[in-house]
Amino acid sequence: MTLLQWLKLKSGVDNGSAKYSYGDDPVLGFTSNRKHSERWVNSTCGYCSVGCGMQLGVRDGKVVTVRGNPDHPVNLGKLCPKGLAEHYAIDAEGRAKYPLLRKDGQLTRIGWNEAIDTLVKRFRKVQEKYGPESLGIISTGQLVTEEFYALGKLVQLGFGTSNYDGNTTLCMAAAVAGYKRSFGSDGPPGAYEDLEKADVILLIGANVAENHPILCARLEANATRTLIVADPRVTKTAMMADIYLPLKPRSDLALINAMLRVVIYEDLYDKEYVERHTTGFAELRASVERYTLEYASEITGLSTDLIHEIALLYGNAKTAFIGWTMGVNHSTKGTETVNAINNLALVTGNIGRTGASPFSITGQCNAMGTREAGFSSGLPGYRKFESEKDREELAGLWNLPFDRIPTKRGLAYPDIIEAAVSKKIRALWIIGTNPLVSFPNIDVLKHGLANLDLLVVQDGFHPTPTTELADLLLPAAIWGEKEGTYTNSERRVSKVNAAVSPPGEARSDFDIFLAVAEKLGCREELFAGWTSPVDAFDEWRRVTAGRLCDYSGITYAALEEHGGIQWPFPDSVSTTPEVARRLYSDGQFQTEDGRARLLPTQWAPFPEQPHPEFPLILNTGRTVEHWHTRTKTGGISILQRMSPRAWLEMNSVDARKLGLRAHDRVDVISARGRVKEVELRVTEIVAPGQIFLPFHFVESNANQITQSAFDPISREPNYKQCAVRVEKSSPVHT
Ligand code: SF4
Repeated sequence: MTLLQWLKLKSGVDNGSAKYSYGDDPVLGFTSNRKHSERWVNSTCGYCSVGCGMQLGVRDGKVVTVRGNPDHPVNLGKLCPKGLAEHYAIDAEGRAKYPLLRKDGQLTRIGWNEAIDTLVKRFRKVQEKYGPESLGIISTGQLVTEEFYALGKLVQLGFGTSNYDGNTTLCMAAAVAGYKRSFGSDGPPGAYEDLEKADVILLIGANVAENHPILCARLEANATRTLIVADPRVTKTAMMADIYLPLKPRSDLALINAMLRVVIYEDLYDKEYVERHTTGFAELRASVERYTLEYASEITGLSTDLIHEIALLYGNAKTAFIGWTMGVNHSTKGTETVNAINNLALVTGNIGRTGASPFSITGQCNAMGTREAGFSSGLPGYRKFESEKDREELAGLWNLPFDRIPTKRGLAYPDIIEAAVSKKIRALWIIGTNPLVSFPNIDVLKHGLANLDLLVVQDGFHPTPTTELADLLLPAAIWGEKEGTYTNSERRVSKVNAAVSPPGEARSDFDIFLAVAEKLGCREELFAGWTSPVDAFDEWRRVTAGRLCDYSGITYAALEEHGGIQWPFPDSVSTTPEVARRLYSDGQFQTEDGRARLLPTQWAPFPEQPHPEFPLILNTGRTVEHWHTRTKTGGISILQRMSPRAWLEMNSVDARKLGLRAHDRVDVISARGRVKEVELRVTEIVAPGQIFLPFHFVESNANQITQSAFDPISREPNYKQCAVRVEKSSPVHT
């Protein structure tokens, strides 16, 4: 049974009923709780950025099952394996229930008053001693937008530090920076509907079948499309392709530039669009001159004929869509690659039309909300730090003196860690993320954390590798226990609702932020009248009014009624929420002259090339059953049974050379460390010279061997393409 067949069976999409819950699985033998739910609560999945609508079945004060919401415009009742099992996370082992403070080396239970008092007094003490910027905050795309917006105000205007960033920098910063450079603003321009309507779909470094499974239904619904998948690994998505491009690691930028050259030199570009809506065409044309088919073939490993064919297919398409995820972003060339994708879309006029878009498929459920609410790489509402007008607007909206609004961004996530290593950051507040598993070259992070005077960790789970190091732990509510909104990859805002109360004394992140503001003495100034998330949302609607990400026409009531609404949705909007909305349909971009920028980009070899001591190229990625560092999915037995441990994929050519066999336990070694005793899979999914290791598993943490190399523009890590070797670690296990 294929993944898609399984999804259809489980979600009931084949018979239109969407009635099965995970518990109905006859093979896995789970008992259904569906019939016994006392009530159903509408909400949105808390994992990935597809943003599926779901319903939580509640009985006796517990969430006993979930099902897809058949009326939600994103998924029409379908859910993937993670979504179908999400309710198990609520009652999983290891929920954080009480505030804990390290006393005599031990984390000891304390009350909330002491916890908040400790946080505020000790942060202030550090700031008084070392300066306001000695405090750093790292948050997450798992917060609802209302929480993220509140946190930004609290951190930047309350604590007065600009060293504030999110774990979204580890996955989407290249897309954000690329959009800003090309279009003058962040914001994915397209809609999921484009996957159903495009003539040609090019997916680059995007394994949607594993990472955004419900989008596969959109690809399947498009019977006439040509699906091209570019990926060094033969992923499940590659297996769905009409044309698969097994390009060499990190050669995508050369491929796109070669496609651009063909499109320009064979006169397939849209001259009128280029003339009216872009700048920089002459420079772009000159910059792709060197990307002949022969040069691109040498870099990518693809034949000249194949590159030519792909370029003609894209150039001749009436509607062409390019989607990408971490295969593009996780690179020192990530931002430039995004700009190259945007260049290709712009010169062919494939933007702002049905079926035509460059489109980053985001990672976390609310990575988009964090990007819009900002206060990390930009000011709230996609405003710019450097714009006096933008700062004036915010000062007016918040009734604050103009000089209180920050004029430049602080340190990005990797630079906050570097600043901890060099002792410029002395106190750190980590919220809803687990860097001890997710940060590249983990020893650098450990060094930085060891230097701190105070580490505060706020999380729904304890212990995690990160909470175990905390001086102060704040227990937080998770999905299913709190209210707010998520915004998905297609800019669709959906409602998140509490079905049950958090365990023990855990509180929503929103409540925690307000309590900190109260103790800090800035609640009245920054959050006057706020008691619940809707108060933050109402202010957010005012802050975004007239902006590209305009929420002003969206209300909680409208979200409940329609299941999800795409921004921009101004208060005065005359169209209905059901109509798919795209950015830049009028050819007006967010730059000063309203034109998009065509930006020359140049391919370069990835930073750590293989060599005799480390001859293999490591690729990292995900599997459908798990979420990031498994804080949520590691405690869900059904997902653990489906994917209990890490594995290493290696081509049979390399396995033979090394005398290795399937199921051998092997160590993977780089210049930085060693991942021990991973089970070997000998497979043609990876090419000779390349290996693949999933990054979810702390026991086999890929980030013990990844490198400290970052995109100079976005600061996104180059998680992929590390030079490694593989050694047998123990005899075959039977
Ligand atoms: Fe949740 Fe993403 Fe799966 Fe949808 S595709 S159910 S949003 S994890």
